[in-house]
Amino acid sequence: MAIQNWFTAAALLLIIGPPGVASAEGAERDQNASGRLVLRGATVIDVRDGTLRPNMVVVMERDRITAVTSDPVAAEPGDRSLDVTGKYIIPGLIDAHLHYEGYAPELLLNHGVTSVLDLGNDYEWIKAQAEGIRAGWIPGPRLFFSTPHFDGSPPAGSPLLLQRGHKHFVDDVETAREATARYIADGVSSVKIYEKLKPEVLAEIVRVAEEANVPVIGHFRDAEIAAAVGGAGIEHLRAVAASAQDPELVKQVRELKAGRPGSLGLTTVASVDWEKLPGVIDMLVEKNIYLNPTLMGYRSVPHFKEKGFPYEDFELLMNNWRLRYIPLQYRLHIFKEYQEQGVWHWDDLDEHEQQWAITQFENALRMTKMFADRGGKIYAGPDCAATCNFGIGLHQEMELLVDSGLSTLHALQSATLYSAEVLRMEDEIGSVEVNMLADVVVLSGNPLEDIRNTRAITHVISRGQVLDGEYHPEFRNPYAKPEPETSGHYFPSPRISWMSPEALTTESAPARVTIRGSGFIPYSLINFGGRNLKTQYFGPTHLEADVPAELLRIGTHNVVVENPDFAFGTADGAEAEDLFHLGVRPRISNSFPIIVKPPGAPIFTHPNEAAHVN
Ligand SMILES: [Zn+2]
Repeated sequence: MAIQNWFTAAALLLIIGPPGVASAEGAERDQNASGRLVLRGATVIDVRDGTLRPNMVVVMERDRITAVTSDPVAAEPGDRSLDVTGKYIIPGLIDAHLHYEGYAPELLLNHGVTSVLDLGNDYEWIKAQAEGIRAGWIPGPRLFFSTPHFDGSPPAGSPLLLQRGHKHFVDDVETAREATARYIADGVSSVKIYEKLKPEVLAEIVRVAEEANVPVIGHFRDAEIAAAVGGAGIEHLRAVAASAQDPELVKQVRELKAGRPGSLGLTTVASVDWEKLPGVIDMLVEKNIYLNPTLMGYRSVPHFKEKGFPYEDFELLMNNWRLRYIPLQYRLHIFKEYQEQGVWHWDDLDEHEQQWAITQFENALRMTKMFADRGGKIYAGPDCAATCNFGIGLHQEMELLVDSGLSTLHALQSATLYSAEVLRMEDEIGSVEVNMLADVVVLSGNPLEDIRNTRAITHVISRGQVLDGEYHPEFRNPYAKPEPETSGHYFPSPRISWMSPEALTTESAPARVTIRGSGFIPYSLINFGGRNLKTQYFGPTHLEADVPAELLRIGTHNVVVENPDFAFGTADGAEAEDLFHLGVRPRISNSFPIIVKPPGAPIFTHPNEAAHVN
């Protein structure tokens, strides 16, 4: 239906350009919208208190709900009527924490996600998407977006300084006032903050934003600062845990991580003090601060596999040829996430380390439940595409919220009413009531009985239009994301120019290899035949590592350089933990073959390396 037209329109854009499409499409939508859409016979779920209202008629006109009633509604000429007897109607879902991609719209809409809040993206690009969607010539959910990440300047020499404008460094109160006001005037729906902001700077950002009724959301350093300045929403459990740390556990986690040259994905959530935590939560609840636990971020633990999430994603991303427009590296990224804890493969962790990772996940569930039990409001937004798959990821997150012990009602509220409240949009979206925007989802099962029924979608209605629920292989987003690279967001892509030597023998160990190229960062890893080596960084064009004896088997082995995923990266100890919650995909270099020969063969230094001057 409408969505199909939109996608066709988007596909045509490259040929005929936006203005013509916009007017033709706009006219057609107006025509469609002139009649009413009438849904008859379903049970409407009131997300405010979980009341079930059976046998209701829901009427939508243009982009508004105009009646929700058990009284008879007479048919009118031009009505589009749907018999949804025996089904359930919930509000269109709201994903209040994602990082949008150009391929996202059908995945979101077909999973009933009709509104989203983007919390960090290429600013001009996300704004262009929002404008195009609003004007009706790019398909998509209602797209609310944020400022670039406001943060304090990183230490000199940080790779973050080199990257495109996803970050806005704000180090003084004056800049805070000016920048916050400017972005609000530009139409942002939230201000996104990071933990390196000075307290007085953060306070000014919140003051200016609240004056305009714009919520401040993000990575607060800890619960105290969030409560002191009056933040609206806390992303991730880290900040809450940071205010309730058990020093003995902190020591244990630090020791465990110190034994690893890269990163083990344990955060402050692993070392939480359960005695202190209730007081910290009470402080946040009293200030009406909402919590976004992003439980999907822990997806490397076996729990996710037991729940079948990877198979669900596989079915969608790999077995559905109609989604072939999603670039392969994005699809692979989702599966890679399942295998990794930080930059390490789950199976490479020893039992002790695995147990710690599981403990951290169990802590995350327990903290979420405690927050809800003490009267706090949880809102959903699983941080896709960083750690999940658009659309389905929101349903998986709701399921995890129920696993943590939340009621099915609270889980449903987290992706409807409470997400709307965080956005200060509860008068427009998030419930099925008269005067709300015309976004609803029809389900064949009751989600309050089993939260998995949110996936049992029979119809998605977005802006008063019934979507066709299909994926359209011809879809192309008219705005490609202006990334210089094909994968990754924030870090340069590494490239290997040469390696020295380019052949080794089985007895070369420990064999030191020098890699010359570009795009290397202090956290680059040399990967030899599938194994990450302890890598030394000498500059953006120069890395070295020793190849251990057990890897020196006769044959040709591929070497790549990986600039890793920093979602849980630690560069220089626990302090830096979240400074790098930025890059969401590792960047992998070209692969460079190295030959390993039997003992005795002569090994040469690469000729260019011999002549190379540092
Ligand atoms: Zn995020």
